[in-house]
Amino acid sequence: MTEVRFVVDGMLLGLGRWLRFLGCDVVCFEERRKSGLVRLATGEGRIILSKDTKFCAEHASLSVYIKGETVREQLREVARRFLKKAQPEFYLTRCSRCNEILQKVEKASVRGLVPDYVFEKHQAFRQCPVCHRLYWDGDHARNIRKVLDALWTEKP
Ligand SMILES: [Zn+2]
Repeated sequence: MTEVRFVVDGMLLGLGRWLRFLGCDVVCFEERRKSGLVRLATGEGRIILSKDTKFCAEHASLSVYIKGETVREQLREVARRFLKKAQPEFYLTRCSRCNEILQKVEKASVRGLVPDYVFEKHQAFRQCPVCHRLYWDGDHARNIRKVLDALWTEKP
């Protein structure tokens, strides 16, 4: 697991989802009132990522203002600042919806739960213990890995 833990505010939910693809522990905080956000970050030792300049100025020790406009820019910003280098062993190890660590499941147990062509083609399946969504290394996963791999090498 990557060591830094984050909480993103309601303006950075897309970033939060992509940070989970990287393997980061991320809570998405969607309430508009920010008092709970501070309490959560302090209580769980999470860094707040936000696009609210005023909030970040007032909570400089807890938060980081994210400059990027697109999710890709934002992701690059956070990855380069906090993760330093690519750690592909953590890619796609969490549920992008729940933040839970995925668990390996027997191939036989997913028969009928995934499309037949997926079952035929893939050997390794993982599942979220909370929402029970199934994951495998298909085209979607491959495309995500490509984006993640490029974060440390692409410009700027
Ligand atoms: Zn889940």
